[in-house]
Amino acid sequence: MARTADVTVIGAGLVGAATAVGLAEAGLSVDLYDAEFPGSGSTGAAMGHLITMDDTPAQLALTAYSCQRWRVLAPSLPEACEIDYCGTLWLASHPEELVGVRDRITAFAAHGVRAEVMEERRVREQEPNVCPGLAGAFWVPDDGVCYPPAVARALVDRAAALGAAVHSGERVTAIAPHEIHLANGSRRPAGAIVVAAGVHSPELIPGLPVVPRKGHLVITDRQPGLVRSQLIEFGYLHSAHALGSASVACNIQPRRTGQLLIGSSRELVGFDGRINRVLLNAMLERAAKFVPAVNSTRVLRTWTGFRPATPDKLPLIGRWPSLPDLWIATGHEGLGITLAPGTADLIVAGITGRPAPIDPSPYAPDRTMPTMTTAVA
Ligand SMILES: Cc1cc2nc3c(=O)[nH]c(=O)nc-3n(C[C@H](O)[C@H](O)[C@H](O)COP(=O)(O)OP(=O)(O)OC[C@H]3O[C@@H](n4cnc5c(N)ncnc54)[C@H](O)[C@@H]3O)c2cc1C
Repeated sequence: MARTADVTVIGAGLVGAATAVGLAEAGLSVDLYDAEFPGSGSTGAAMGHLITMDDTPAQLALTAYSCQRWRVLAPSLPEACEIDYCGTLWLASHPEELVGVRDRITAFAAHGVRAEVMEERRVREQEPNVCPGLAGAFWVPDDGVCYPPAVARALVDRAAALGAAVHSGERVTAIAPHEIHLANGSRRPAGAIVVAAGVHSPELIPGLPVVPRKGHLVITDRQPGLVRSQLIEFGYLHSAHALGSASVACNIQPRRTGQLLIGSSRELVGFDGRINRVLLNAMLERAAKFVPAVNSTRVLRTWTGFRPATPDKLPLIGRWPSLPDLWIATGHEGLGITLAPGTADLIVAGITGRPAPIDPSPYAPDRTMPTMTTAVA
């Protein structure tokens, strides 16, 4: 007779892996299932930016809290996780983009996050390869980067060391009260169930408001020092916010190897993962507009991935009422790497009944939100 774990986690991306660790650290027995292998989904396709974002107060609260949690986690992770605190430099092309930035600095400070306005001269001292003529920048020194699939693997190993049973290559086809069904036809008993299956979560919970939002990435050859901080144009905020049409924005990340990881694009094309050459070229042109030396790098590889997007751009974290003891941790769009530790803490608090570290209500999966058609229109 199979044992019944206290909690069955479905999905070993960064969100499921962090959740499994948190549950195991809380003393619960955990079964962790992944249809493929840890980090094989969106996590393996991501840039790995650990970033404080303030599209809404709820987004600021969860990103700021998660970034603090990353700082605690980082020293315990293996070197292969490549965690570097390079900061984020938000590049402003026009003075209007810096309007309101003082209020943002105050809001960041209220969450313990340092930020400042940087005039163009200082921007070019810090990043000599950015284009001349910028209006300035918004500098967030405590943001970082990581190598997401390596972190997912390390956290799954940690969960296993704490006693979790890890089932790679086992696809869950359905969930029922206190039971999961597997693709091999077997059924396993479950205590609480946490669905952390990223963009595939609606296959297990029909009606869940999550859609795949495709993104392209490019990695270049090694040119150490070309860029030192994560460089993002202010227009990225608009690109990430508007769920409808296809968009690109300059987003350049320095990797420890000396390579540049270049994004970003956003499209709603279902699960069509083919490279869109037009969008890819537009993305590279955007990067070269802000860092002309990008044109002297060589593209080594391009790929696409899918962000799990929700209509109101906030994740779904908490109890889902259709089944007893069913919990959801998905819908993080382009922030799931950043938000994994905070998400894990909220799920652990919910399941154990401990106090939540921040107000969980803005992320409640059954909150009122626009329908997907309204949000996309
Ligand atoms: C191009 C791109 C760039 C990005 N850059 C960043 C960034 O810089 N910073 C950031 O914070 N976020 C970024 N993201 C977003 C981030 O990748 C996601 O939000 C995050 O990876 C979601 O993690 P997850 O664990 O929820 O999902 P996933 O990583 O997709 O994990 C879900 C897992 O569930 C498994 N699974 C699915 N269905 C089943 C099933 N039925 N049974 C069992 N297992 C199943 C899958 O195999 C998978 O391993 C980016 C995304 C993309 C596409």
